[in-house]
Amino acid sequence: MPTADFAILLSELAQADQLRSRRLVTSPQDASMIVDGERVMSFASNDYLGLANHPRVVEAAMRALKRYGLGAAASHMVTGHMQPHHDLEIRLAEFLGLPKALLFSSGYAANLGILTALAGRGDTVFADKLNHACLNDGAILSRASFKRYAHNDVAKLEILLAAAPVGGRKVIATDAVFSMDGDIAPLAALLALAEQHNALLVIDDAHGFGVLGYRGKGVLELLNLKSERIVYMATLGKAAGGYGAFVAGHEDMIEWIMQTARTYLFATATPPAIAAAMLVSLDVMTEDHERRRHLRTLIDFFSDSLKLQYAKAPFSQTAIQPIIVGDNATAIAFSEALRERHMLVPAIRPPTVPAGTARLRVSLSANHTTDDVFDLVTAITDIEVLLLRQDQR
Ligand SMILES: *Cc1c(COP(=O)(O)O)cnc(C)c1O
Repeated sequence: MPTADFAILLSELAQADQLRSRRLVTSPQDASMIVDGERVMSFASNDYLGLANHPRVVEAAMRALKRYGLGAAASHMVTGHMQPHHDLEIRLAEFLGLPKALLFSSGYAANLGILTALAGRGDTVFADKLNHACLNDGAILSRASFKRYAHNDVAKLEILLAAAPVGGRKVIATDAVFSMDGDIAPLAALLALAEQHNALLVIDDAHGFGVLGYRGKGVLELLNLKSERIVYMATLGKAAGGYGAFVAGHEDMIEWIMQTARTYLFATATPPAIAAAMLVSLDVMTEDHERRRHLRTLIDFFSDSLKLQYAKAPFSQTAIQPIIVGDNATAIAFSEALRERHMLVPAIRPPTVPAGTARLRVSLSANHTTDDVFDLVTAITDIEVLLLRQDQR
């Protein structure tokens, strides 16, 4: 039986501590939620502003469900492009101060679509080694030459750009906030290189949109970046608390992506109620600065407290706070010890992160209280002492 192979493959994964399992959630998404039948404090979600279950956002979805029904029933190019989608695109472009925005059904689909639309045979995609999987997959699918540079290694990127074939289009692609480390890409330097070498710069701001910048416009606001070369992409599944994604930038470029991106053309539009809810989510994001300010306070409190007590403190200034442990087994033991204290912090292991850098990945949200984060810091430092003692035995 050809299926017998899979049992062997699965047992190999298990032996390498790489077998994953899903947790079952039976409450709405929140800081405190019910996971596998037990109430836990979750530091695992990407709901950075606490909008996934915000009453105004949920209400907007329900109103739109009544008005537009559930499904979009077709792709955008056929009859799936409905009023809420249209309004949301206009609103996103306005909010970001960019000429045009285009919705995709997910961030994954967006990156596949963007890269295959912008690059093809004879072109070159340059990518940070720690980029999100879907930027890599988009580059591979595009059939362009694919050049990866060491994390944030601007000097190496410059060498690669200089060596690229003349005539082909050059596309630099990077996460704005790296999803497993929380650090911010050197975007000003990348943009300068893009200008010198006549390249486009695709910025995936999945973890910055809504979180970074005074108004939550993400990394472009934080770093004050503006250029026609920037292809700005973000998901609505993280800080916006919903689902879907978008790309924004120069009008003709976005139009070209709309005309040619296969993940756009050959996919059903997201349910219109989701787009309607995302419009309200944007309202809350722009009106309720307190959420972002509170999250900022929690980030500073968490990283400052750990710096005082723990050598491997994260250097991240974002809501993603990794604690690098090293080997897979220790990361799992750490995560399980936190779970015994009713705190959910996932252990992230290879192949999601490079071998030998297994880690706890703490995600903070505006829905956490300062006490929640204080409890987490206390637990981490206690457990660290226990695990170290075991190592030394
Ligand atoms: C989550 C994520 C994506 C994918 O977005 P979805 O909307 O969840 O498909 C893309 N890029 C980065 C950096 C992400 O963290």
